[in-house]
Amino acid sequence: MKLDRRHPRFHSLAVREKLVRAVADGIMVPQGLIAHGRGEAFNYFLGEKTTPSASRATSAAAGILLTAQHPVISVNGNTAALVGSEIVRLASMIGAPLEVNLFHRTPRRENRIARYLLNLGAKEVLGVGKGASMTIRGVASSRRRTDPKGIGTADVVFIPLEDGDRAEALKRAGKTIIAVDLNPLSRTSQAASVTIVDDVVRAIPNMIATIGKLKKASRGRLRALYRKFDNEQNLAHAIQEMIQYLGGWINN
Ligand code: ATP
Repeated sequence: MKLDRRHPRFHSLAVREKLVRAVADGIMVPQGLIAHGRGEAFNYFLGEKTTPSASRATSAAAGILLTAQHPVISVNGNTAALVGSEIVRLASMIGAPLEVNLFHRTPRRENRIARYLLNLGAKEVLGVGKGASMTIRGVASSRRRTDPKGIGTADVVFIPLEDGDRAEALKRAGKTIIAVDLNPLSRTSQAASVTIVDDVVRAIPNMIATIGKLKKASRGRLRALYRKFDNEQNLAHAIQEMIQYLGGWINN
């Protein structure tokens, strides 16, 4: 459908069109549209903008990613559809592989996503076919499958858009988890060491810009970015920011 750029909800409608195309192309499943809908509701509560708590979380996450020994970026259908090019760029900036990880996993779909990311310039896409030979304990879906070259041996896993089950299991497995989730109350948000409460469409470009600025920073400076970061406290700030935004509506 051709959208009029002057429509007040142009951006949101354009994203929906992109996701509908991703379902038709076999990158996303229809259930991903429902997950996106839940995200849209929380995005509204944020005033559809990046808040100070999200920026603080982004700096902490950048510090962790740039000091990690073996960081891995986990990609599902929604992430590939929404920020495929950006995630490929981020992976190359931090020297991390991408790993496909799907709740609704089929060989056809994982291949489609891998091919899509490779066409966008990804150097390496793990978690495809026999590559996903390891299992994370305590995950009741096909998201339990991981690649021993990727998430299986990673110290830091960046999981833009995740389900709580796996976030909790990865944490139990001793990994440092960085999540992007518009819902500060989700199990994923609560389980992560750093949660960026923002739309992945804003969060990944912000992360790229932050990492770009920190590329030459000393390890000491990078560590200082996350040493004092408290995820629980930052999530409470994110909730306060939503309440403040909604309060503005009541007072107007
Ligand atoms: P959990 O299992 O972590 O408790 P959930 O069951 O709500 O949460 P899912 O349904 O698997 O999780 O995934 C949807 C989650 O992704 C929601 O928390 C939603 O807010 C978030 N989400 C959806 N779209 C986006 C987006 N574009 N950017 C950031 N977060 C998003």
